[in-house]
Amino acid sequence: MAEIDRGSVLDEVASLGSALVVVAHPDDESFGLGGVLAALTRSGVDVRVLCLTHGEASTLGATKDLAAVRRDELATAAERLGVSDVVLHDFPDGGLDAIDPAVLDGVVLDVLGSAATLIGFDADGVTGHPDHRAATAAALRVAMDQGLHVLEWGVSPAVAEVLNAELGTTFAGLTGDSASDIEVDRTVQLEAIACHESQSTDNPVLVRRLEISGPVDRIRLRRPGG
Ligand SMILES: [Zn+2]
Repeated sequence: MAEIDRGSVLDEVASLGSALVVVAHPDDESFGLGGVLAALTRSGVDVRVLCLTHGEASTLGATKDLAAVRRDELATAAERLGVSDVVLHDFPDGGLDAIDPAVLDGVVLDVLGSAATLIGFDADGVTGHPDHRAATAAALRVAMDQGLHVLEWGVSPAVAEVLNAELGTTFAGLTGDSASDIEVDRTVQLEAIACHESQSTDNPVLVRRLEISGPVDRIRLRRPGG
C-alpha cells in the first residue's frame, strides 16, 4: 500500500475554492465520495452535486416510484454531507454512454459556476460501469477545456482484488503515480449512506468494501496541464 497522505491533497483542493461533484447516480456521492466530500465541507469548501440520472434502473429497492424515492434520498444525503446544492438530471439510468458527449459537457458547463475542482469517480468508473465512465469522462473534458482540477476517487488495487475474488465484482483499482491514499473519517459518510435506504439496506458489496477499506480512501488529483 502507498504511504498514507494525511490530507495534503484534500488541503490543496480546499485551497482552490468551490467544487462541483459530477456523478451518474444518486448514492455515488455518498457510497463512493462521501468520505472525501464530508472532509471538504467540514473544511468549509462549498461543494455542489450534479447527478445525471435518477438511478431508476437499480435492481435494489425496485418499485415503480424508484426515481422519486432516489431523488428524495439524494436530497437528504447531500444535506447530511454538507453539500450546498444538488442538480439532478433525468438522463436514462444505464444509458449515459449513449448520450452525445457534447450534451453531457453542456450540462456540466451549465452548472459549473465558479467551481475550481470537479470531483467524481475515477476514469474507469471504479467498477467499469458505463454510466460512471461517461460521467467522469464529461468532467475530465470540461476540466481540460476550462483549466480546472479533477479529483478522482476509486479503490486501491488491493481492495479491488479482494472484492473481485470474494464477490465476483469488477472493481478496477485506481493506480498510477499520482494516486494516493488518504485517511478519512467515515462518520458522516455512513449517515449519508443510511439516507439511501433503498440502495444500502441489502448491499453486501458496499458493506464489504467499507470494511476492507477501513478509514482509507484512494484518490488522484489531476492538475490543469498535468
Ligand atoms: Zn453509481
